Amino acid sequence: MDYFAGIDIGSTAVKIVVIDEDRQVIGNKTAATGALVYKNAQTAFLNLLGEIGLERKHICYLTTTGYGRKLFPDADETISEITANAVGAREVGKPFGTIRTIINIGGQDSKGISLDENGNVTNFAMNDRCAAGTGRFLDMAARNLEIEVSDLGPFHFNAQGTPAAVNATCAVFAESEIIGLLGNGHEREEIVQGIHFSIAKRTIRLVKRVGIEELIYFDGAPALNTGLVAALEDELGRRLVIPPLPQITTAYGAAIIGLESHRFEKQEREEVGEAVVVSSGHGCQGCSCG
Ligand code: ADP
Repeated sequence: MDYFAGIDIGSTAVKIVVIDEDRQVIGNKTAATGALVYKNAQTAFLNLLGEIGLERKHICYLTTTGYGRKLFPDADETISEITANAVGAREVGKPFGTIRTIINIGGQDSKGISLDENGNVTNFAMNDRCAAGTGRFLDMAARNLEIEVSDLGPFHFNAQGTPAAVNATCAVFAESEIIGLLGNGHEREEIVQGIHFSIAKRTIRLVKRVGIEELIYFDGAPALNTGLVAALEDELGRRLVIPPLPQITTAYGAAIIGLESHRFEKQEREEVGEAVVVSSGHGCQGCSCG
């Protein structure tokens, strides 16, 4: 069996997925990106391989993506996160139909990606200038409200009153606004709801720039936040496709692109009649990949 790895080196977290030649996920891991980007990504990768009983030599093709993709020298290929996200969403979304719009919220940016009927990227819009509407904004809000970011969802659904109005379009002003709302006696649950609706409105404005078509896929780790999902669905008036592991779609897409590149290279070598030489350059000595 041949194995392929996709590593998504995001601004906040490194996501790693290992698949087999049938595109089945064999294992996945998330770790903090930190300051020592390559060291942290490499350690997480080797730890994942250990957990699933594989060694580096068993990985036929390694594809990196994300903002830190060029910082991983062992990669066979680097690919933009827009392309990797689209490929991953198309594959994961298959049971629901054809994904035409992706909403991705990451640690430091948010994106809207538009796909045609064949899953090719036709357009995208990105906010990477302003923290408002990104994971960093949610982290800041959770810190100020003294709750874990993973508890934002439950807090959203426990609100008794109406969502607090969080109007600031800048994360710095929003922080003051949140502190002001606490000072005025608002419940944290209402403030969490207000934050989610504020992010949802902002995100939809961004995605409208590329056009919103059915089906809409929402990914990135903030899609684990059920409160944010509810706010987005409420503002859109439509249901979203949420994958079971929304944080790993892009790494999964990168792994699939690697699998396809590997097959293409193998076919090219066979067509020119070259002997299939097992590469030692990328560590797949001793495995079946050619
Ligand atoms: P990147 O690819 O830019 O590193 P991610 O897709 O990993 O970004 O998203 C990181 C953000 O996801 C964090 O800033 C945080 O706000 C949010 N997040 C992480 N884990 C969870 C969780 N369990 N529940 C809700 N939100 C989360």
